[in-house]
Amino acid sequence: MGNKIVIALGGNALGNTPEEQKEAVKTTAKSLVKLVQDGNKIIVGHGNGPQVGMINLAMEKGHQADPSIPLMPFPECGAMSQGYIGYHLQNAIRHEFKLVGRQVPVVTVITQVLVDKNDEAFSNPTKPIGSFYTKEQAEAIALQTGYEFKEDAGRGYRRVVASPKPLDIIEKESLNNLYDAKNVIIACGGGGIPVIEEDGQYIGVPAVIDKDFSCAKMAELMDADILVILTAVEKVAINFGKENEEWLSKMTIDDCERYIEEGHFAKGSMLPKVEAAMKFVKSKAGRKALITSLEKADDALAGETGTWIE
Ligand code: ADP
Ligand code: MG
Repeated sequence: MGNKIVIALGGNALGNTPEEQKEAVKTTAKSLVKLVQDGNKIIVGHGNGPQVGMINLAMEKGHQADPSIPLMPFPECGAMSQGYIGYHLQNAIRHEFKLVGRQVPVVTVITQVLVDKNDEAFSNPTKPIGSFYTKEQAEAIALQTGYEFKEDAGRGYRRVVASPKPLDIIEKESLNNLYDAKNVIIACGGGGIPVIEEDGQYIGVPAVIDKDFSCAKMAELMDADILVILTAVEKVAINFGKENEEWLSKMTIDDCERYIEEGHFAKGSMLPKVEAAMKFVKSKAGRKALITSLEKADDALAGETGTWIE
């Protein structure tokens, strides 16, 4: 016990609407505070798919209905989602500490994450965001704005953005200072606001960084002992959803490589988690990663369940 851990919260820790989120973060806060009560020091990251989707859609619709409402760029929507989710989390975590008789400072840091403007992801955007459009509408908007659109599973056309890899966290010194001052930190929300460097300036770009990769980077830069990825499943499986499904308690890096090659982990869901875990574990001797569910986090950290990557 007494580990420094970075926790990546999945979609199920937050829910979809503000009411749902306010309710969901109570349970999330309970699990997180329990980990601190067990002696761990925690840094929290989280996803933002539904939240940034909602904000982006609302801003788009608002602008369409009333052009005096400015069109909100996507990086700004990401920043809004970090504030909105961070507010709920820090409110709930602080309260949960109070319930167990502790006063712990909890703070959200709006986080910018550096990406390479030449990242190959920019030449093949894959992440759908915003409204659905007809082919004609999409073509008209594309002509006007330069946005890229792709057909989304027969449901219409949607804007797509790139998913580049995180290189650095701009606010890392602040994160380390806040950590040293014993704050529970919420950072890298939604994978962070992606920025590129141009003429010595950081510029936000419309893209989505996978939160599992950003949390792995944050764990690396903050010299954490364990990266904990909390999601909807208690363990990682091979032959997931099949008759011969097998839940794993442990994977070595070699195992991970072999299972990835054999296609056991779904792209966009389990694959980035396993890849992020591997990246962190390989970054320095002694670093470990754990993939498990929110409910089982403390049992898993005690070695009783979850999938450990070592
Ligand atoms: P999050 O919001 O936590 O990032 P995701 O839906 O992106 O959640 O990813 C977690 C999901 O990945 C699980 O709920 C499960 O349905 C799915 N999954 C895909 N492949 C596997 C696998 N091999 N083992 C376990 N879960 C898997
Ligand atoms: Mg995910």
